[in-house]
Amino acid sequence: MIKIPIRNLFKTSFLVCFSLLAHFAQAQQIFSTNKYPITDFRQPLDITPPALAGSFGEIRGNHFHSGIDFRTNQREGYPVYAVADGYISRLRVQNSGFGLALYINHANGFTTVYGHLQRFSPKIATIVKDLEYEKKSFEIDEFPEATLIPVRKGEVIAWSGNRGSSGGPHLHFEIRDTKTEETINPQFFGINIPDNIPPVIHGLYAYRLNGKNFNESTPKQAIGISGAAGSYKAAAPVSLTGEVGFGIVVTDRHNGLSGTNGVYSIQLELDGKMIYTSALERFSFENSKAINSHIDYPTYINTKRSIQKSFVDPGNPLKIYSGLVNSGRINFNDGATHQLRYIITDSKGNASILPFTVNAGTASFAAPVIPAGLNFPYNKASEFNSDEIKVVIPQGTLYNDLNFVYKKLPKPAGNAFSAIHQIHNRFTPLHIGFNLWIKADALPESLRDKALIVSTGGSSQGGSFDNGYLKATPKNFGSFYIAVDTIAPRIVPTNITDGKSMAGLSKMTFKISDNLSGIKSFSGYIDGKWVLMEFDTKTATLWHSFDDRTASGKHTFELVVTDGKENVKRYAISFFR
Ligand SMILES: [Zn+2]
Repeated sequence: MIKIPIRNLFKTSFLVCFSLLAHFAQAQQIFSTNKYPITDFRQPLDITPPALAGSFGEIRGNHFHSGIDFRTNQREGYPVYAVADGYISRLRVQNSGFGLALYINHANGFTTVYGHLQRFSPKIATIVKDLEYEKKSFEIDEFPEATLIPVRKGEVIAWSGNRGSSGGPHLHFEIRDTKTEETINPQFFGINIPDNIPPVIHGLYAYRLNGKNFNESTPKQAIGISGAAGSYKAAAPVSLTGEVGFGIVVTDRHNGLSGTNGVYSIQLELDGKMIYTSALERFSFENSKAINSHIDYPTYINTKRSIQKSFVDPGNPLKIYSGLVNSGRINFNDGATHQLRYIITDSKGNASILPFTVNAGTASFAAPVIPAGLNFPYNKASEFNSDEIKVVIPQGTLYNDLNFVYKKLPKPAGNAFSAIHQIHNRFTPLHIGFNLWIKADALPESLRDKALIVSTGGSSQGGSFDNGYLKATPKNFGSFYIAVDTIAPRIVPTNITDGKSMAGLSKMTFKISDNLSGIKSFSGYIDGKWVLMEFDTKTATLWHSFDDRTASGKHTFELVVTDGKENVKRYAISFFR
């Protein structure tokens, strides 16, 4: 393992952060001058030593991981502590996402977030349940006044769980700037995670850009590497001619029971001069989807391999980059030998080094040929119209100029009320959704309210009827047509039948699902009165926990589940308690 003295990282003048040497024992920041309090916060769990199942900024589908995931020994139910004095500033319950989550505002200007909780402390649980009954909704998102739920450092606020979009029991923990809501690497706040293991470098790639935008047809070449324990090397010098960008596959582990996590920083040097730095110190949620611009998105879609590019697309809004020279693009046309070096660090400053040699050619590359298709600039809104469709791409959607291609394919058999419209391709990442109108073909008036746009993969894009067209806002390009959803959701009771005695059972449980437009709402009623039904999207499980609102004796129960196209399923029985 090579532990780089911090000064080596600051060869170039734009990297000014020497005052942070004091933080080195905790974690090191690469290029910012932000100062964070390192003694205010305790650990949110008592599990020692703490181990992470996920690190800050780690690459996830369509987002950077916004916090750190503490391992909880594959179990739920560990007490979760307020990391400092403050007050509960947000109470959030969701079918997916964080499931059950608490936010605490602290006097130092930071907010801590605790997600995927199993249950809240009794005091908080009572407040949440009252709010849910008041709003007749399981999902809530409330911002209590500072005086309602003050908390002390070390107070148990909840128990750890696996609710929401969680892949196993753990605690998701974040520290945010209260004002901007930017989320910040908790390891910069003295949240100590034992770690003396340097990042692992799995792969190195060269992309032949030659003046063009990066896209799915950019030629990519793997460069063989070997090494371990912080020290890597290329198998042989590589010959490259023309404008090139590089990409790298890296992961990190912490000591003990660590998952495979993400690294903190990636830097690339050309002949001793830094030309690219990315560092996951903090980011804003509105920029998080630009991870699809940060990585080689077409390769990720095809193989799930996350190659982090070391050249930056012009429409990439992330503020994690610094000291870019020519956006990280390098011209190899001088016939000389060049020394390159990747320096990869984790949040504790453990570093891995990968030097490699490039023998540059001399041929200058030909000016790029503008391919057939429509040119959509990344920094402008664009529009495409035909007799049967309209596409509006708002400004801020594209990361690169796009050579837009459209194709009409025959109407599919079965449940279809339009041709298939191929809107460019699924390898182009989009920052926000685009607006799509598809003209309806032979759609009966009676089915207008049931119509929606689906992708040829079968997933609903939603949408509504608008003057002869269906309008939706897909998040990705692809192939789309109009279908209808006339089928109500399914309700499958798992532990209850008509007339059953539920005495001795703490809850009644159901599985609910929908064929196309998706579950929009659910409501349960005991003796005609609304009762709290809790839902977990990932397991499609819906349940009601009995409490003293339901006395012993005979009761009626009705469950109403509605999908996105207002198809309604009802389930009604009586039971004893
Ligand atoms: Zn997490």
